[in-house]
Amino acid sequence: MKSVRNVIILGSGCAGNTAAIYAGRAGLNPLVIIGHEPGGQLSITTDVENFPGFPDGIQGPDLVANMQKQAERFGAEYVYGTVDAADLSKRPFRISIDGEWQETRTLIIASGASARWLGLPNEQQLIGKGVSSCATCDGAFYKEKKIMVIGGGDSAMEEATFLTRFGSEVSLVHRRDEFRASKIMLDRAKANPKIKWLVNTAVDDIFDVTKGEVTGVKLRNLKTGHVWDQEVDGFFLAIGHIPNTKPFVGQIDLDPDGYILSKGGARTNVTGVFHAGDVQDRIYRQAITAAGAGCMAAIEVERFLEHQGH
Ligand code: NAP
Repeated sequence: MKSVRNVIILGSGCAGNTAAIYAGRAGLNPLVIIGHEPGGQLSITTDVENFPGFPDGIQGPDLVANMQKQAERFGAEYVYGTVDAADLSKRPFRISIDGEWQETRTLIIASGASARWLGLPNEQQLIGKGVSSCATCDGAFYKEKKIMVIGGGDSAMEEATFLTRFGSEVSLVHRRDEFRASKIMLDRAKANPKIKWLVNTAVDDIFDVTKGEVTGVKLRNLKTGHVWDQEVDGFFLAIGHIPNTKPFVGQIDLDPDGYILSKGGARTNVTGVFHAGDVQDRIYRQAITAAGAGCMAAIEVERFLEHQGH
């Protein structure tokens, strides 16, 4: 077992990196576990136009790489690996990183929520080239283009409605003809004449990997079996997110979907364990809000350790 760390930060997205900058500057030598999606959601985005301070925008991967560089300048240490087990029953906490146990006085969980994908063969290759899981991030790239949104929940309604500001048309594809979305969100979307509804419909394929961009999809009516191709420029998944909290099930309070339940500020129900970013936030989910949450978590860690005499 290595020496006890002051703080371990799980996740290397905006939340984790910002926590690392603050904890590093506070002299806490944070250890950042990079996780299974290095750089988090931004690493699978292209242009980021809404992060303050970059009037001409910045590439998502560059933004997170800059953050990491900034944190390393202040002594943050980054290790590749994922957390496969944890013992939060007493302090110091014990965290297993790919089977290797490490002790820490405090923990910041900034492990994010991974977008759920359809699992189609071409989908992953076209992420950032027409396939997106974030309308707020990427909608503006599809002005006067053909947009498709997949899903039947609040996110799908919200994103389809939002995307009508940009697209020449927005098709909403849902696998059933009943919607999980709340009535108010569904009614708002239904009242929008720019949204075309394709219910009982599944997406079988996305084209065109050889061109390196989305040009269309193959759709299938699940009731009739009818299969057809449709031209699409922007393909937006809104089929939910999966918070990365598996190692903490039964150890910290989570909501029924697995998101961390906040006890206010960046606190979880376990003293010394803090949250930051999408692992707790299912509403805003933005780079800037995650960065702000990472800052809050690091400040709480600093005060907690000071109070404990470290
Ligand atoms: P969600 O409510 O879980 O809905 C996911 C949707 O995706 C469902 O319609 C589901 O279809 C569909 N889906 C899931 N897997 C699929 C697959 N493999 N293929 C095709 N379709 C699939 O997720 P969400 O819309 O992201 O919402 C999550 C939570 O955030 C909810 O509590 C929601 O109320 C909340 N939220 C609130 C707001 C707001 O109030 N402004 C905005 C966004 C989200 P089925 O229905 O057939 O299962």
